[in-house]
Amino acid sequence: MPDTSSITGPSDTMGKNSHYQGFVKSGLSLGRKTNDKLDMIKMKLYNSLNTADIPGSLILWKQANLAKQSDPAIIEVWNHTQNYIMFLRQVLNIYSLDGKGKCVTSSVHVGKHLCNAFWNGYFMIYGDGNLNNYLQPFYRDPMIIYHELTHGLIQYNFPLEYFGESGAINEHVADAFSVIVQHYLDKSPPSEGRWNPGSKIITKRNMSLRTFDDSVAYDYAELGRDDQVKHAKDFYEEEEDFGGVHINSGILNHMFYTFCMELNENIWDKPLKIWFNALMNIRPNCNFEDFASLLAESCNDLYGEEALNILIKALSHVGIV
Ligand SMILES: [Zn+2]
Repeated sequence: MPDTSSITGPSDTMGKNSHYQGFVKSGLSLGRKTNDKLDMIKMKLYNSLNTADIPGSLILWKQANLAKQSDPAIIEVWNHTQNYIMFLRQVLNIYSLDGKGKCVTSSVHVGKHLCNAFWNGYFMIYGDGNLNNYLQPFYRDPMIIYHELTHGLIQYNFPLEYFGESGAINEHVADAFSVIVQHYLDKSPPSEGRWNPGSKIITKRNMSLRTFDDSVAYDYAELGRDDQVKHAKDFYEEEEDFGGVHINSGILNHMFYTFCMELNENIWDKPLKIWFNALMNIRPNCNFEDFASLLAESCNDLYGEEALNILIKALSHVGIV
């Protein structure tokens, strides 16, 4: 993957250098009592009207006004964002991306034929996809929205540097959360849930922007070939892609998948709790080995030896231990 945002198309012009640079450490308000009504979720949605002017004009800020909208970009982005924020509240007891109820802002119809969606450090940006229709608008796949919103969650709460192994952990967490939220909303067991972020925007059949098993996500002329690696022996060590953040994240994704399939329980339960607990103790320059130790500690503390053995098997399957 060539760019700063997780999921990037070839005619992207805005993704470069737009990824957040700094990190704001803030405490998660786990356990905080809040009202779960939809109206309590603060969101704002803007329309850039196919210019580079972001965020653009304010279109929607109240659930009650959603019914008046007819633009699918506005309706879908609003609903999927709301689902993500509700997931954080219901499953992790976190109030919005920063844990303090911060308003989540999104801007749709950004640029002309922008094949991208990304978190720019302050809000969400959505392009409309490209001209010849091999990539649909990125909001068409809610898993991409969940991935990008997770970059916001990480920015506010987990100080992972966006380079090399810590950057690959960042990308992996965004990918893993996209799957977890989707499984949660679909109430799917691991063997039946979606593991293919981006499949709804690639118009070619049976392709996606990510896979978690050991298959290649995409391979065709316009997009090129998926270059994610699935085993530590294939670790990418060059400088491109911020030191391979979107390439080496595949190793952790495959490990996560292997663990979840073997555990065979809902992934928004034990796997999410293990991963989240590990993230609470993460350092900015955390490498894969440190991350594996944090996961193992978290797994053992929360669920004991049986789960730990499955995790160690998954880590060994991808060559991390
Ligand atoms: Zn990403």
